[in-house]
Amino acid sequence: MSVNVSVQIGPYIEAIGKAEVKIEKVKRICPNHPNSKVGEAKFCPTCGTLIKNKDYVETHKLSAIDVLNGETYHDELWASEGMENIIMSNETPPDDINFYVEYGNSVEITNPEDTKTKQLTWFNKAYQKEITMLKDKFGDDKIKVKWGVVAYWS
Ligand SMILES: [Zn+2]
Repeated sequence: MSVNVSVQIGPYIEAIGKAEVKIEKVKRICPNHPNSKVGEAKFCPTCGTLIKNKDYVETHKLSAIDVLNGETYHDELWASEGMENIIMSNETPPDDINFYVEYGNSVEITNPEDTKTKQLTWFNKAYQKEITMLKDKFGDDKIKVKWGVVAYWS
């Protein structure tokens, strides 16, 4: 099996660390034997006490792509295997502001600063909802929209 390295030039999202996502759950326990498994039983098999529902909170540590996959957002956003906190887009910016070329071709970049600014504006607008959601889960300063080169395995 061979592995190819692909390169993307443009906007991407970088997340730092993991998001702690709290999920509220309910478990069924015997008040006298909170650590025993009771399954679907109505009464505790050990002491016969009525099984009660107990609310608890589970904390999950999620990467940026896990957070995105857990929500029903743009599936154009993706991460390469092993790079779960670098989020790229499968969508290309509008024709007048993109660098993307077909394989085997080249493109001359005549005004990189201008194109960079326009691409960042496009990206921030196109994925505003997702960026806001990620900032909400990771913390404002842990989500950066960057512009640059990403090398990934494909
Ligand atoms: Zn019991």
